[in-house]
Amino acid sequence: MKSPRIRVKLGILAAIALIAALSWSTTAQTDWLAPDPSVISKFQDEESQHSHIMEVMGYLTDVYGPRLTNSPNIREAGEYALKTLSAWGLANVHEEMWGPFGRGWSNELFEANEIAPRHFPLIAYPKAWTPGTNGPIIADAIYAKIEKEEDFAFYRGRLRGMFVLTAPMRVIEAQFEAPAHRFTDQELADLAQPRPPQPPPDKAALDRQRKQQEFNNKLVKFLTDEGAVAWLEPAPHDGGTVIVMGGGSRDPKDAPVLPRLAVDIEHYGRILRTLEKIIPVTLRINIANKFYDDNLDSFDILAEIPGTDKPDEVVMLGAHFDSWASGTGATDNAAGSAVMMEAMRILKASNVKMRRTVRLALWTGEEEGLLGSRAYVKEHFADRNSGDLKPDHAKLSAYFNVDNGTGKIRGIYLQGNEAVRPIFEKWMEPFKSEGMTTVSARGTGGTDHVSFDEAGLPGFQFIQDPVEYETRTHHTNMDVYERIQAADLKQMTVIVASFVYMTANAEQLLPRKPPAKH
Ligand SMILES: [Zn+2]
Repeated sequence: MKSPRIRVKLGILAAIALIAALSWSTTAQTDWLAPDPSVISKFQDEESQHSHIMEVMGYLTDVYGPRLTNSPNIREAGEYALKTLSAWGLANVHEEMWGPFGRGWSNELFEANEIAPRHFPLIAYPKAWTPGTNGPIIADAIYAKIEKEEDFAFYRGRLRGMFVLTAPMRVIEAQFEAPAHRFTDQELADLAQPRPPQPPPDKAALDRQRKQQEFNNKLVKFLTDEGAVAWLEPAPHDGGTVIVMGGGSRDPKDAPVLPRLAVDIEHYGRILRTLEKIIPVTLRINIANKFYDDNLDSFDILAEIPGTDKPDEVVMLGAHFDSWASGTGATDNAAGSAVMMEAMRILKASNVKMRRTVRLALWTGEEEGLLGSRAYVKEHFADRNSGDLKPDHAKLSAYFNVDNGTGKIRGIYLQGNEAVRPIFEKWMEPFKSEGMTTVSARGTGGTDHVSFDEAGLPGFQFIQDPVEYETRTHHTNMDVYERIQAADLKQMTVIVASFVYMTANAEQLLPRKPPAKH
């Protein structure tokens, strides 16, 4: 219970805060300029007439994809990005090492067929960081319905040399909705509002999830110890699309697990239903996977356009460069990487004056927990554990991020920083006709702007049309070049370049959120 005296004190503090806020907002209205239409049209002309964005997309996906962190592919993709950024005349182009991340991994060869009672090729993918089979293996499949630890006893000694399926079939429904979607005006209006109050975290559900994870770890160990040849797991999604992520450890010291496959649900179902009819199923599977333990560290890619009269102050733009391993990481996140690289190119090619230094960062290790961007923020700006700030913490105006697929920009999340609302509304004005209409009071998570936000730095992510992200491409085998909408990427590029340009030339650094209360 609060005493009345404390309440009075708080009232005064609140009043001081209100006066500060009011005086700030009057200065803000006079100081923050609107974009210059001639500069925007320079950016638009450069992008519509000399775009390199689909060429970059093609290299990052078809040639170097997928780009799993610490794989040989991503190291080559990194060299390509360095070469490209240097050729565009950007300054200070380099890789900055961070780590340790862990071992590299790649799939070198994969074949999987049912050979009896009928032949058909399986749509399936090895999970990242799992081992291969050391050559082709012909063996029977078994449905071992193992749902709890007590089920281990029954199957002990029965799985050696077999392909094991443990999960029951799930219900697959027709897809009545189109996979692609653009935000409606109503959806954007909803998104503009603060997030509706969320129910408190369901402790029981979290508990079940944790127990399921623990059981899963025991099951992997059991199947490995029992000498099963491989574990076939039904993948999320359907229609030949499968989500494939990791299945083994990145730590070379950890005990190896058995080969694990993410299997398309329709093909998983056919094998399972045949087995349930007591008809033996024979598979022929050949997996060649490689581990790389020579360099456990990874890298971020940096490039700059030096500022003219405030070169020690910085505006950053970035995206994660890494992907999962079954598709080519096109929408997640070659798209964001290509947009950010291309934004740098048009800023440079347009030869516009920028007072602050503009710095591009392409991160790795995002998919494993924002690792590359967190390492960079810790090295250059702040240690979020100790709270120690580096001198450059005071000199970063903002960080802008793109990582929501191929869809064009429809707005920006304030990330709880209401002070930037009038500024972003002004900067958004020239792009309303292109669909960017929404400043959202919400924050969004799950990608690299969070590394800046959690260190007390202004970090922003744009709102993008979802297109096919959740329904088809995110972390799937179908995250490929064909799913990219070129016109959307070009729209994004011009908007990002414009926001970066405005930040680089503003009178002041962008306002920051008040420090979080503890
Ligand atoms: Zn991503």
